[in-house]
Amino acid sequence: MANILLIEPGYKNKYPPLGLMKIAQYHHSKRDAITFIKGEDPSAQTTLFEPKSWDRIYITTLFSFEYQRIARSIDYAISLVAGQRNRIFVGGIAASLMYERFVNEPRWQGIRFIKGLLGEAPAISLKLNRDELHGDDVTSQPIEDLVPDYSILDQIDYKYPVQDAYFTYASRGCIRKCKFCGVPKLEGEQRDTNSLTSVIQGISERYGEKRDLILMDNNVVASPRFKDIIAEIIDLGFEHGSKLSLRQRRVDFNQGVDARILCKNAMFLRELSRIAIKPLRIAFDHWGLSKPYSQAIRYAASYGITNLSNYMLYNFYDTPSDLFNRMHLNVKLNEELNIQIFSFPMRYQPVTRVDRGHIGKSWNRYYLRSMQVILQATHGVVSGNSNYFRFAFGNSTEEFKDILLRPHHFIFNRHWYEKYEGRAEYNAYLQSMSRLSSDEKNELLELLCTYSPTQYSQEFKSLSPGILRDTAYYFVPISKTEERSIWQKTKHYHNNQCLVPEDERVEDAGLTMEI
Ligand code: SF4
Repeated sequence: MANILLIEPGYKNKYPPLGLMKIAQYHHSKRDAITFIKGEDPSAQTTLFEPKSWDRIYITTLFSFEYQRIARSIDYAISLVAGQRNRIFVGGIAASLMYERFVNEPRWQGIRFIKGLLGEAPAISLKLNRDELHGDDVTSQPIEDLVPDYSILDQIDYKYPVQDAYFTYASRGCIRKCKFCGVPKLEGEQRDTNSLTSVIQGISERYGEKRDLILMDNNVVASPRFKDIIAEIIDLGFEHGSKLSLRQRRVDFNQGVDARILCKNAMFLRELSRIAIKPLRIAFDHWGLSKPYSQAIRYAASYGITNLSNYMLYNFYDTPSDLFNRMHLNVKLNEELNIQIFSFPMRYQPVTRVDRGHIGKSWNRYYLRSMQVILQATHGVVSGNSNYFRFAFGNSTEEFKDILLRPHHFIFNRHWYEKYEGRAEYNAYLQSMSRLSSDEKNELLELLCTYSPTQYSQEFKSLSPGILRDTAYYFVPISKTEERSIWQKTKHYHNNQCLVPEDERVEDAGLTMEI
């Protein structure tokens, strides 16, 4: 019996690590002992009282921008096997998308980095030599096709926001090659997977029945088996209105569905309305999709699907006006069709970039921070409610841009500065701003983008006395004590109850990272 350690780096993530769960299943079938940790958990170290010897360590990776955290886990693994790097295997999304970077890191020479899925017999996928542990296993079922082992999740304290669910795929890959997306590189062409029924029955028999069904397909509506997949989902007990132990079940194609296909035939929405879909996520990545997107939403509404949600990419080739128009279209569709669309603006980062510093050519650092501040108050969700939307984002693209160029404490404490005791200061700021020429406004914006807010106070000292300097000082952040005091006095206005349950929000809304 070998000792196997599975590590998921210490980042916050929403879904359990499916790849590691399948590896656990494989090693369980070989009667190996499995330990699962999150981050650099010291319990994996040898102590005076408890020697630990790991025959093999697997590390999964997710977001490329979590490179530093991933690196810490890999270095930790090296220390756990006293430098025997040939015992370490690293796979997952970031390792696949940035394969060369991982492989070329000198301190990680000898570690096996796995690109893509474990889709062949175990010894082949894992690049094992014949004399290694299970190195002769060149004929077994691929690890990718195994039933994920849910039991390992009990070994860690971390609670994934989505838990009581079957996590699987009905199809892999995608027919498209969108430039901003890692799927074409990670998964390649669109293709079918094994039967949903066998995976779900396998999970249910071994780990008990689950309430929800999370399907991580990239583009399920492009599958030639789409209707069969829906029929299978219904047969598995996830028809519209279905319940488990009196609780509503939920089917979530969590990567979204493709408006360009949905708009072509009402059949797609008719079929989707037969299952317990919640929410229906339709991607709306740029204004050029507005027609197919609107048509898809209209079809959805006509079949009674009223709980909708979408990812809205921004900071790519779009402009702030493009984003505003997309969000605003949702408000109009909500009002017209009496539905509820919640949007999740997702800041674009190149999939191979190791931090979150990318700035799209029509965006700037200050506007991106402003978006982050607006979204922080709502956990990343944009409600399609007209009053809320107008207050948060303005009535027009011009008003939206004015909001993006406001001091961040004015954005974060809108009620205080626009309606209550902060009003005099806010009005003075507006007046000051209105006296700036457009060149001065551009100069101000450049300063705001060049320095971080903590540097503003110092840097603005070097400006010549005058209206530009006076206006710039409104952007110096207020103290934490002042912030707390405003927050206390206005807390009845802050509705911290997010309108969308945590398990239906996006995997990573990028609300906390420094831009
Ligand atoms: S359609 Fe979606 S999954 Fe496919 S390449 Fe484009 S963004 Fe990626």
